[in-house]
Amino acid sequence: MVNSQEPELVLRKVVVAPFVENTYIVGARSTGDGMVVDPGGEPERVLEAVADLGLTVKLIVNTHGHGDHTSAVAALKEATGATYALHQADVPLLKEGASWASRVVPSYKPPPEPDRLLADGDILEVGALRFQVLETPGHTPGGICLYGHGLVFTGDTLFQGSIGRFDRPGGNGRQLLLSIFSRLLTLAPGTIVLPGHGEQSTIGREKLTNPFLQRIPGLGGR
Ligand SMILES: [Zn+2]
Ligand SMILES: [Zn+2]
Repeated sequence: MVNSQEPELVLRKVVVAPFVENTYIVGARSTGDGMVVDPGGEPERVLEAVADLGLTVKLIVNTHGHGDHTSAVAALKEATGATYALHQADVPLLKEGASWASRVVPSYKPPPEPDRLLADGDILEVGALRFQVLETPGHTPGGICLYGHGLVFTGDTLFQGSIGRFDRPGGNGRQLLLSIFSRLLTLAPGTIVLPGHGEQSTIGREKLTNPFLQRIPGLGGR
């Protein structure tokens, strides 16, 4: 998948059922430290991939609190003892997401209380790798993206050719567009976009071709 020139970076995407959600496993080659972004289901497959990559999961991070991204957090935390991190503004969503997800997955276990509450500018360390927390509210109040090493994990904020929905409780379309324009489209055009659903892209490609981003929010137009 990703075409990253970073020799220290280990990266694998696992597309998990039943929500067809992208779980990303990120590792530091020299230390074997690992981070799992949005374990949204099928914990056994995620753990298999972690073992295959030879990583020790130290950190589990959610880009936001929706059930399709949090469904495997409990199982992963139990298996690894890793620190669980989420933006503080999405903590109230965990319960709501859990009741929704448990209707789809009968065996669903709600995520535990986060061990670490994230805010803008926080740095997540994975061995020698560093990822910066970018607050990108709009899809949810506490939605974040993680940026570092030429990559940006965008959760449900930005997709290839689309943007996150904002019609669910806590969503705000204007805020979502402002987040994308001010925090994501300002990144280098070559930055690889790793979204919570669907295929990867780049910031430059989305800027040019994403139909939702062809006018500046607040300036009217189409
Ligand atoms: Zn979502
Ligand atoms: Zn999602």
